Amino acid sequence: MKVAIVKERRAFERRVAASPDTVKRMVGIGLEVVAESGAGEGAQFTDAAFASAGAEIAADAAAALGAADIVLKVQRPLIGQAAEPDELSYLKRGTVLIGLLQPLRHPEEISAYAAAGIVAFAIELLPRITRAQAMDALSSQANLAGYKAALEAADEFGRAFPMMMTAAGTIKAARVLVMGAGVAGLQAIATARRLGAIVSATDVRAAAKEQVESLGASFIIVDEAVALTAETAGGYAREMGEDFQRRQRDKIVEVLKRIDVVICTALIPGRKAPVLLTEAMLGELAPGSVVVDLAVESGGNVEGSRLGEIVTTAQGVKIIGYANMPSRIAADASQLYARNLHSFLALLVDKDGKLKIDRADEIIKATLLTENGAVVNPALAAPAAAEAQAAAG
Ligand code: NAD
Repeated sequence: MKVAIVKERRAFERRVAASPDTVKRMVGIGLEVVAESGAGEGAQFTDAAFASAGAEIAADAAAALGAADIVLKVQRPLIGQAAEPDELSYLKRGTVLIGLLQPLRHPEEISAYAAAGIVAFAIELLPRITRAQAMDALSSQANLAGYKAALEAADEFGRAFPMMMTAAGTIKAARVLVMGAGVAGLQAIATARRLGAIVSATDVRAAAKEQVESLGASFIIVDEAVALTAETAGGYAREMGEDFQRRQRDKIVEVLKRIDVVICTALIPGRKAPVLLTEAMLGELAPGSVVVDLAVESGGNVEGSRLGEIVTTAQGVKIIGYANMPSRIAADASQLYARNLHSFLALLVDKDGKLKIDRADEIIKATLLTENGAVVNPALAAPAAAEAQAAAG
């Protein structure tokens, strides 16, 4: 069976879905690997490194994808006549496609996979159970995004993070507020702390308090009673009501005057990100303060943030809206993502290197989007299946 890896062509993407390490592991379990020439360039993996790990190098995406039984991707494939190239059109019926396919944001593309006879898996739909931890790409990427967010903030901040006592005078430690203390937020806290900042954090989930405090940061709680009910069975935050959001803003406004850097990471799966910092709240920050909006791709936690840009407000506050933060640390992000996909692939391939999809497995059930020409994922099936049928004519 042939596994293909291609260059990622979507904007802001430098990662790749396999590493020389995972190529070697795939070859080790009897799979053939074909990598498009230059696929690993953005992540500092050369064709020579892929080749010496056992991959065949293909001249272009068409050659790599056309030969594939399994395709590993970071971003969803390019689709349609305007796409350069139309990656989906190269895949033969029955090809297994695994990647961060964003099924809730782009359901029409999932219908196109069904119509093309693709067996597609969205890695972000993994249940967060212990057995799936090695495959958890959301966590591996969010962790690096949190790290990089703290570094980008430090870089744009015109002052130092640590307190420094020098002969020329004392520099005060920077005060950092992290909003949203999930995987990315906790790593942002840890990184800002390592750089010497004084860190506080807030989250709607009560469970975050202990984790924040164990990293040496202080926790700001809006409403203890609400926090206890703010977590879903899957461990994610619920969308908060208007009343809670107003009280959260009142509470945060009180602390903003003493804050130099804010790192926002709050997300609600499948929904628009909550607005945590309004334009009026940004006015509380001193000129030279820096805000990072890690949620910018999901609508943004910060009013006025712009995708892929640094915006400076009239009061001199910088809002960093970089797109795809994990891609800004592409080598490590690819290394970890590649391992996540390799662990997932091990579920689909038997000892003889043959495809064996166990539809009763809860990891498979949660991530499988399409097969046999239909959208089969319960989160999408009804409306998208109708579209797929229509598309297939
Ligand atoms: P996420 O990316 O969906 O959201 C980031 C954070 O924003 C979360 O902590 C969330 O509570 C917070 N948030 C949402 N709305 C907010 C608001 N209005 N104000 C402030 N904060 C808000 O979350 P995530 O990083 O994927 O993590 C979610 C949970 O899953 C965490 O408890 C994490 O520890 C857990 N987790 C478990 C596993 C596992 O394998 N068991 C793996 C990864 C994560």
